Amino acid sequence: KSYLQNIQSADAQYNAFITVTEEQALAQAKAADALIAAGNHQPLTGIPIAHKDLFCTQGVKTSCGSKMLDNFIAPYNSTVAEKFNQAGAVILGKTNMDEFAMGSSTESSYYGPTRNPWDTSKIPGGSSGGSAVAVAAGMAVAATGTDTGGSIRQPAAFCGITGIKPTYGRVSRWGMVAYGSSLDQAGPMTQTAEDAAIMLNVMAGFDTKDSTSVNRPVPDYTANLNQPLTGLRIGLPKEFFGAALNSEIATLIHAAVKEFEKLGATVKEVSLPRTELSIPSYYIIAPAEASTNLSRFDGVRYGYRCKDPQDLQDMFTRSRAEGFGAEVQRRIMIGTYALSAGYYDAYYRKAQQLRRLIKDDYIAALAEVDVIMGPATPSPAWELGAKNNDPVSMYLEDIYTLSVNLAGLPGMSIPCGFVNNMPVGLQVIGNYFDEARLLNIGHQFQ
Ligand code: GLN
Repeated sequence: KSYLQNIQSADAQYNAFITVTEEQALAQAKAADALIAAGNHQPLTGIPIAHKDLFCTQGVKTSCGSKMLDNFIAPYNSTVAEKFNQAGAVILGKTNMDEFAMGSSTESSYYGPTRNPWDTSKIPGGSSGGSAVAVAAGMAVAATGTDTGGSIRQPAAFCGITGIKPTYGRVSRWGMVAYGSSLDQAGPMTQTAEDAAIMLNVMAGFDTKDSTSVNRPVPDYTANLNQPLTGLRIGLPKEFFGAALNSEIATLIHAAVKEFEKLGATVKEVSLPRTELSIPSYYIIAPAEASTNLSRFDGVRYGYRCKDPQDLQDMFTRSRAEGFGAEVQRRIMIGTYALSAGYYDAYYRKAQQLRRLIKDDYIAALAEVDVIMGPATPSPAWELGAKNNDPVSMYLEDIYTLSVNLAGLPGMSIPCGFVNNMPVGLQVIGNYFDEARLLNIGHQFQ
């Protein structure tokens, strides 16, 4: 009730929620009370959380921030939503996001932009901006997010919270509205690394319903949080500290690294020479995958259908033209173009080749060090509207996050200070399936 009250009083300013499931939340809370009274509870029983609005939630609107799915009531639960229900969590509602998770600011949502609680004239980051704000503003204890190219880490950084994108395949994608299927990964957004560990314990695990889910035991992510960091080898990629980086953020990152040295870590410079190429590689691969994934929204089976179509072609064309916003249409066009006969080799194949080289760079660096540290973003949160007329300027803001998805590695953002009163995130990138180490590092830093 207290969290529902917070949503009611605060969310008019922030617009973090698309749907608030008050009745359902109170029923779940009641059920949780009974479990707790019977001594039959798990760590998340009765804990109020929110889901990004691309996780299918049975009987609840799942809009993906789009007019296309404004009328879509999910007929089943995504694996992630199901796992939280099984764990006894209380679902407060569904959070705002960039349309189809395409964006870095939560401004492309059909439901209007979400605002940053640290300064409501600023964006909260995206695409999981609603989840980040729900947690940062005390409207949920924790929230789920997804990260295709930074959408958990970047809004976590901009809102001063913790966000972790697990290794690709660690968390099931089943029942998530797909954006870039080879990049998408769900993860928790929380106040602390410890909370993230508790959330990830529920989310992670093999799922036969997701063919890219990895069949590998899930450790207890809370078990090693207090392990000392003596001997931890940290790599600082020199390409993450170039001219693109705000100098005050650079100072904060170096100060954070000093703290880890005090905790017994050693630091050395490493190189990720293809960092800059992650932007052109990602912004071909993600739209290419999106253009095929979004072909299912045709006005026939579910979602938006235009009024009074003249014929079948008119129905397809107008349903898509009216149902998708500008950024989504731009991505579909880029992706379709890059996949067309004659252009496939020049763009899509090249982008995939770059992706492999970017991954190889990480593998080489992570052979020398245990984790890589750097900024999550090149600048703090910007003013609403500042980058809307120039999509490429927004894409460039993803420079430090995209490569982690291209390589499939786990990455975490934890708060490390403020620039002009806006929060800034330290990014920690680990080896495959090394989430427990990242969370240990996050917990020791906090
Ligand atoms: N900003 C990136 C994009 O627009 C990443 C978004 C995401 O991770 N979902 O594609």
